[in-house]
Amino acid sequence: MAFESLTQRLQAAMGKLRKKGKITESDVTEMMREIRLALLEADVNLQVVKQFTKEVRTRALGAEVLDSLSPAQQIVKIVDEELTKTLGTEAVGIEKSPKIPTVIMMAGLQGAGKTTFAGKLANQLIKNEKARPLMIAGDVYRPAAIDQLKVLGQQLDVPVFDMGTDVSPVEIVRQGMEQARANKNDYVLIDTAGRLHIDEALMDELKQIKELAQPNEILLVVDAMTGQDAVNVAQSFNEQLGITGVVITKLDGDTRGGAALSIRAVTGAPIKFVGSGEKLTDLEVFHPDRMSSRILGMGDMLTLIEKAQQDYDEKKAEELARKMKENSFDFNDFIEQLDQVMGMGPIEDLLKMIPGMNQMPGIENVKVDPKDVERKKAMVYSMTPAEREDPDLLNPSRRRRIAAGSGNSVVEVNRMIKQFKESRKMMQQMSKGSMPAGMDQMFG
Ligand code: GDP
Repeated sequence: MAFESLTQRLQAAMGKLRKKGKITESDVTEMMREIRLALLEADVNLQVVKQFTKEVRTRALGAEVLDSLSPAQQIVKIVDEELTKTLGTEAVGIEKSPKIPTVIMMAGLQGAGKTTFAGKLANQLIKNEKARPLMIAGDVYRPAAIDQLKVLGQQLDVPVFDMGTDVSPVEIVRQGMEQARANKNDYVLIDTAGRLHIDEALMDELKQIKELAQPNEILLVVDAMTGQDAVNVAQSFNEQLGITGVVITKLDGDTRGGAALSIRAVTGAPIKFVGSGEKLTDLEVFHPDRMSSRILGMGDMLTLIEKAQQDYDEKKAEELARKMKENSFDFNDFIEQLDQVMGMGPIEDLLKMIPGMNQMPGIENVKVDPKDVERKKAMVYSMTPAEREDPDLLNPSRRRRIAAGSGNSVVEVNRMIKQFKESRKMMQQMSKGSMPAGMDQMFG
């Protein structure tokens, strides 16, 4: 997960003030020094760091803080507000055309994630507005890009217009646009070619496509892992092509996050989306305030809820709730639930979106080992259908058979069944509205 070390360092810098009743100018100076270093180490652009620390310092030395009864809290509030401002203040959605189609053109270097983003965006448009997009395969330099887009199109049931790799991208876009108009598609997503570096040929081609397609949006896709390079790329593209927004991909990776924090301030172009994984659902609308909360370790419940809603099938959820109440939750449901939860991404990242969790001791050690999940699934798959539906059938000889069949020991099978029964009991209690034994003490 991005920003990990930045979060820790910012929290440490601000945490020192918490123990103090009154804050002096030298306390603020000391804190600002640490914040400045933390940002520089996170690879945030120097100008952005200077501007940010200047604003925070001025406000931190103002009367609202020094005379306040809880100066440390006031400072956290200021840092949060200034960070939100640096990130762009408000979420900016897709600019829609008054008449169809709305044309969205992707741009960016090779490997930044343009093709993947085109698929993710189509998926989101279909889910949110039942859109009927057409995707145009304009990346003729990376032959695999066309196949990749076609595979995404098949998964999403979205048409992909392509003419192979022997036709110029400008001609492909021209004919693709014609098809979109004829078929009355409401969105056209144009995947364009990238290069390893910015060069004149690339820019010329993109300018021609822009001229022809008159896109409502030119979204520049940049890879968060490339740090300051992403900021330089964004600046060049903006100067030469004029972009309407930025998409930052691979924020799920181990990036220090500097690009995400600098791009808006350096280019003036809003960050519209962030990519948080390789799956089609791993796309978040960028909300500066939520991102700031997340960076400061204050959690991001809204994104967590949206993520759960997006990944969760409502019908299945209702069915599960009914089963929990009736205590008929069986091993088939167990597997389904494991898959759903694993599909939402690493558990440790989800937990960190819950406010306060970031500071929980031991949170770093919460890891769900995908191999462990696979082992559990193998055990369930070694059961007969009758056993999966009725766990009480599992006598010792059946357990031995399951152990042998799934390549585990009987001890492991026993442990898994015990865990299953315990969680089933807990879910039943919770679905009846009472806290399971022990949980009330945790929260009380
Ligand atoms: P393009 O050359 O710009 O079209 O880049 P691709 O869409 O082919 O993406 C390059 C690689 O990055 C692929 O392996 C993608 O699966 C991966 N990728 C794209 N977006 C993300 C993301 O948000 N997170 C992660 N982890 N990988 C991504």
